[in-house]
Amino acid sequence: MGKRKRMKDRYRRFSYLSDIEGMKNAIGEMKGKFFPKQPLLNQEAQPADMDKTPDEEWFIKTITDKILHHPEKGLEYPFYDEPIFDAPLVGFIRGDDPIFDQYKKIIGPHHFTPFEIMRWQAENNGVEPPAPEDLSVVSFVMPISRHTKKDNAASTDWPSERWAQTRLLGEIFSQTIVREIVTDLMGQKILSIAPDVTPMFNKQRYPKVGWASPWSHRHIAYAAGLGTFGMQDFLITEKGCAHRLGSFVVNLKLAPNRQRPDDIHAYCLHYQGKKCLKCAARCPVDAITAENAHDKEACYQKVAKSLTYCNKNYHLFIYGCGLCATGVPCESVIPKGLRKNNFTF
Ligand code: SF4
Ligand code: SF4
Repeated sequence: MGKRKRMKDRYRRFSYLSDIEGMKNAIGEMKGKFFPKQPLLNQEAQPADMDKTPDEEWFIKTITDKILHHPEKGLEYPFYDEPIFDAPLVGFIRGDDPIFDQYKKIIGPHHFTPFEIMRWQAENNGVEPPAPEDLSVVSFVMPISRHTKKDNAASTDWPSERWAQTRLLGEIFSQTIVREIVTDLMGQKILSIAPDVTPMFNKQRYPKVGWASPWSHRHIAYAAGLGTFGMQDFLITEKGCAHRLGSFVVNLKLAPNRQRPDDIHAYCLHYQGKKCLKCAARCPVDAITAENAHDKEACYQKVAKSLTYCNKNYHLFIYGCGLCATGVPCESVIPKGLRKNNFTF
């Protein structure tokens, strides 16, 4: 994002041609291209080089510090340097959690297990892949800032400017901080990988689930007990559903710190038999209905059109929407009446 900072005092011109970072981000998301090279495992590192093996506390502190204090934590012109995110939620999943095999059936065989993606990283570094039980997944929720949520809640057709910036810069930022953490761990001889910045990451239309990627941060966050799904398919967490998510795999045994609700819709008012459907009322193309929940194809068509809008109005090469995640009861919290004390052990 260093290059983006030069835009701080003006809009970029002809963003269809000039927002190179935005275009690279979009192609990366769809085709798994243009990501920086994976860091190499430092096979010379000795235990003495390490201050302390990273534990759950280290990951929570490191991710929180980066999100709150990293030099690239801010939006760009005309909101220069406003923080993109509030303090995160961080959770852990064991690499041999049976939910990853269930995802092969529910999402599809294309969805990686932690072992599959780590095997790729191990082979790249000429080492034996660690056993699934020696792996963990670190998952984090980055709640979108109050100003951005307020702006998007006031929008009715297209994403607000702060939201569009968050969609692009938040994604670049998330990849930056995860890359820093993975590089740090690999330097300490701890095999690690962020699956969403590898050449295998690409989005495709699948027969069972529509548009999907081989590593779903949302499903990973559910597995970590960080939230459950709403009518609009966003993950409702204790800090709401207006967020961005990240996750990565490490060759460490980390203890899960949250209990995963069995009901995948435990925090959605409508699914729990209470009056709501505020997300459906917010959708400009009626992609959410009581009968069919979330029509991913109708949503996709609307979101794809926003690329033109964001280019023209915000000078960004990005698409987005999120209207159904803002101005709704689950925007920033678990709705009243559904909050249970099933978070930290
Ligand atoms: S707005 Fe209401 S119905 Fe829609 S996801 Fe949130 S809680 Fe569920
Ligand atoms: S994100 Fe999709 S479902 Fe939600 S408001 Fe936009 S178009 Fe509708």
